[in-house]
Amino acid sequence: MLKQRPFLIETLTAVGLLVAPFILPHLGFAPNTVNRILVWGLFGIGFDILFGFTGLLSFGQSALYGTGGFVAAYLLTQAGFPHVVTALFIGMIASAVVGYLVGLIALRRTGIYFAMITVAIAEVFFFVEFNPLADWTGGENGLPGVPSPSFDLGFAQFHFSSGWPLYGFLAFWYFIGIVIGLRIIRSPVGAVLRAIRDNPLRASAVGHNIHGYKLTAFVVAAAYAGFAGGLLGVMQAFMPPDAFMFDTSAQLIMQTAIGGAGTLFGPLLGAAVWLFLQDFLQSALGLGAAWKLVLGLIFVLLVCFFRRGLIGGIVDLFNYVTGRNVHHEPAEEAAAIPAAGKSGADAEIAREVAAAHMSASLSAASHQSGPILEARGLTKRYGGLLANSDIDFTVNHGERRGIIGPNGAGKSTFFKMLTCEVPPTSGTIVFEGNDITGMNVTDVCQLGLTKSYQVNQLFTRLTVRENLIIAVLAELRGKFRLDLFSSIDSVPGLSERVADALTMVNLTARADTPVSALAYGEKRRLEIGLALANSPSLLLLDEPLAGMSPQERVETVKLLKSISQGRTMIIIDHDMDSLFELVEKVTVLQEGRVLVEGTPEEIKGNPVVQEAYLGGVIEA
Ligand code: ADP
Repeated sequence: MLKQRPFLIETLTAVGLLVAPFILPHLGFAPNTVNRILVWGLFGIGFDILFGFTGLLSFGQSALYGTGGFVAAYLLTQAGFPHVVTALFIGMIASAVVGYLVGLIALRRTGIYFAMITVAIAEVFFFVEFNPLADWTGGENGLPGVPSPSFDLGFAQFHFSSGWPLYGFLAFWYFIGIVIGLRIIRSPVGAVLRAIRDNPLRASAVGHNIHGYKLTAFVVAAAYAGFAGGLLGVMQAFMPPDAFMFDTSAQLIMQTAIGGAGTLFGPLLGAAVWLFLQDFLQSALGLGAAWKLVLGLIFVLLVCFFRRGLIGGIVDLFNYVTGRNVHHEPAEEAAAIPAAGKSGADAEIAREVAAAHMSASLSAASHQSGPILEARGLTKRYGGLLANSDIDFTVNHGERRGIIGPNGAGKSTFFKMLTCEVPPTSGTIVFEGNDITGMNVTDVCQLGLTKSYQVNQLFTRLTVRENLIIAVLAELRGKFRLDLFSSIDSVPGLSERVADALTMVNLTARADTPVSALAYGEKRRLEIGLALANSPSLLLLDEPLAGMSPQERVETVKLLKSISQGRTMIIIDHDMDSLFELVEKVTVLQEGRVLVEGTPEEIKGNPVVQEAYLGGVIEA
C-alpha cells in the first residue's frame, strides 16, 4: 500500500542514523540523550503498529517493556548468562509470550474497555515486580550491573559501553526494528491491520479473523517492547524498576502522539522532542520539576494544531510547498466522471468482461440448480419485540430475489441473521448444504455469503483500491494468515481481482482516491464493491439504492444487472420500480412475517400487498 521506490525509507533511515552523531551534538543533544531516544523509538515502533496501524490504544506497554528488560537483566546479572544479545532475545521472547497471554485477555473487549484492561494489567505487573518477585527483580532497587555488549572477532574487540560507541549498537537495532516494522506494514497483514483500525466490523464481515490479527499486533508490540526494555538495562548498566511504571506507558503514548501515530517514525521524533525539552526546560531554563507543566502545554498545543503529529504536519507542509493536491478532485466534480472514464458503451463491455472473470472464480456449487439458501422457522426476539417471526425462506442458485416491506418489517434483521451478524432466537439457516446457524460473520463470508450494508461500512482512511484489496485478500488468503514479512504485491492474482472489482463498480478512475473524497453515489458503489470483491456465491444487498439521485439509481441498476450474471442475489430496496426491474421473485415482509411471495407482476397486482404494504397506491 505504501508506494515508493524500493528501500528508499530504509536507505534514508540508515543514512540518518549514520550522520546523526555528526549533527545532533551541534543541536544540543548529548550522546546519552540520543541513545535514550533510540530506545524509546524502538519501543515505539511496536506500539505504533498496535496503536497507529491497528487502532488499539494500550496503556499496558510498560508491563511488556519491564518484562523483557527484567528477564534480560536477570539473566545477565543473576544467572551468569554471558551473551548480551542472546539475553536480549530471550527477554524479547518472554515479553512476546506474556504479550500473547495478556492479549488473549485484553482483546476480549474493545474500545475503552480494552484500554482499561491494559491499565489494570500494567498495575498488576508493577505490583508483582515490587512485591512477590522482588527477590528476582531487586524490587525498588532494580537490577544493577547489567553488562554492556562486547564482541571479540579475533582480530579486533568491540566494546559498546556508553556514549557514541553504545549509540552504534543501539542504532543497529533501531535500524533492524524499522526494517522489520516496514515489512510488516507493507505485508498483507499490515493492510488488514489498517482495515481493522478503520472499521473492525467491516474487516470481519469481508472475511478476516480480526481477533487473530489484533492478537498478532499485540504480540509484535510486546516483542518490540521486550527487546527495547532489555536495551534500557544495557544502556544504563542498570535495569530500573520504573520501566514497569504506568508513567512509562503514558510517556510512550504521548511521544507517539507528538511525533505522529501510524508513521513508525513518530515515536522516535516524539521521544526526541520530549527528551530535548526535558533537558532544555529542566537544565537550561532551570524549571526543575515544573518542566512537566510546560511540556504538558506544549503537548496540548501540538496535538491541537498537528492532529497527525509532527510527521503529519511535515507531510502537509511538504505537500503545500510542492503544490501537491492531497485532496484529489472535489466529490461533486468526481461524481460527474463517466463510468471508468470511458463512454457508457465501453464501460458496459469492460464490466461484462470483469463480470466474466469474477464469475469464473465462483465456486462450482454456484453453477448448480436447487436451493442455495434455506431458512426454516427463523425467529428473532429483541426483549419483548418480535423482529422476525417463524420465517421460512428458500432461494435457488442463480436466482435474483427482492425483499420489500414497510419500515420496521424486519428486513434488515432478517439479513443480519442470514449473514450471521446476529444469532436467531430460533430456526435454522442452511447455505450450500452447510448448516450455518450460529456461525460467525467471518466464516460465513469465507463460505461465500456476503452483504452490502444499508449504511456504508467502508475503510474511511484508505483509498478505493485499498478498500477492495482488503476484501480480495480475505478471499485469496483465507481468514487468517501470518504472512507478516511478505510483500502485498506478491499475493498472486490480487491486482487482477481488484481491477475487476473496480471495473464492476465503475470506480477504476477513482481507484487512488481516498474514501473521504468520494461522492455519495461512489461510496455506495464501493459499498457494493466490497461485498462483491470476494466473489460471493450469494450476495445480499441491503438497500443498495438508498440515498441515490435518480440518475445514480439508473446507473446502479445497470451495474447490478451486470453483477447478477452467474450469481445469486437477494436485494432489499424501497425503490419498487428499480427493484422489480432487477429481480425475478419478491418476498414481502410485514411485522416480521412473510406476507406473500411472487413474481414482480403478481406482487404489483396483489390486493393484500397493496392494502397492507402500499396502502393501495401501487402503480404499475
Ligand atoms: P426494517 O429493516 O424492515 O426497517 P428492522 O429489521 O431494522 O426493520 O427492524 C425490525 C424491528 O426490530 C424494528 O421494530 C426495530 O426497532 C427492531 N430492532 C432492530 N434491531 C434491533 C436491536 N438491535 N435491538 C432492539 N430492537 C431492534
